[in-house]
Amino acid sequence: MHSPKAEELVERRYDRMKSEVLRRAIKVQSEILQASGGFLRQHGFVEILPVIISPVTDPLRHATGRAEVEHYGHRYQLTRSMIFHKQIALLTHDRIFAFSPNIRLEPVELADTGRHLVEFTQLDLEMRGATREEVMDLGENLLIHILEQVGERCPEEMDFFERDLVVPHKPFERIAYREARDRYAGDFEGVISQQHDEPVWIVDMAVEAREFYDREDPDRPGTLVDMDLLYPEGFGEALSGGEREHTFDRVQQRIESTGLDAEEFELYLAFARRGLPASAGFGIGIDRLTRFVCGSRTIEEVALFPKVPGTLSL
Ligand code: AMP
Ligand code: MG
Repeated sequence: MHSPKAEELVERRYDRMKSEVLRRAIKVQSEILQASGGFLRQHGFVEILPVIISPVTDPLRHATGRAEVEHYGHRYQLTRSMIFHKQIALLTHDRIFAFSPNIRLEPVELADTGRHLVEFTQLDLEMRGATREEVMDLGENLLIHILEQVGERCPEEMDFFERDLVVPHKPFERIAYREARDRYAGDFEGVISQQHDEPVWIVDMAVEAREFYDREDPDRPGTLVDMDLLYPEGFGEALSGGEREHTFDRVQQRIESTGLDAEEFELYLAFARRGLPASAGFGIGIDRLTRFVCGSRTIEEVALFPKVPGTLSL
């Protein structure tokens, strides 16, 4: 009745669905969702619904395949991130967030990193008129709040995972991107994450290392006003964000200098021409956060329906 692949999938996942590890991890994840949504609402954010298909989505120049659907002759892509929708949603409310499912057709070489899924969820937020400093401060407070709340509400789960969660201290350390790259050649993020026992910011990415929407510092051409947060203990990247390009001229210039096809972004450009607010924000992966909180080796172990690149998954 089933294909061998389906048979293998059921074999692999059925018992896992009833496992103590998954049951407890999903409880932790539920607390993470509650703590983060509650915190943001308390800080004046309005939750918006995620966008699943759109004619325009994050270009993501790294090796991420496109997933498309066609409807009555209109072509949509599955959302790789809500970056453009966040900027446009700020026309409606000043502070917004969404739990946004992202589809990124990651290459099979990333199957063993323990950090990459083809479908994952970002807590994606954006603040009108904010600076990078302000969103970094919010990010620190948000992470601290989540870890405190999970610690209080999930003591049995933390015991089960033998996880001694340390609530980090503000302000988190910062390292400039170029300095990090020069000091620890190769996988510098991995090394820095390994060597620290509290989260670390990487700031000021080089313009060629990021997408066109991160704002280039007018006083330091070639350097972006953006940041990544790295988890400690080798868990790697937690979030990415920054201030955004938002004026039509700048957005157009950045698209062109990146070598992208402006036509692909025509709808977004049309909104920029009418006027988009200045903003800053970030997206933090919920699946990776769950992995970090549970201290698990892979994201797959703590996800209910993990889509590991190259593997058939429910
Ligand atoms: P990005 O905009 O690419 O930095 O993605 C934002 C956040 O989503 C990252 O910081 C990660 O926490 C998470 N993320 C990105 N790609 C993946 C993936 N393939 N699987 C799981 N989480 C991801
Ligand atoms: Mg990133």
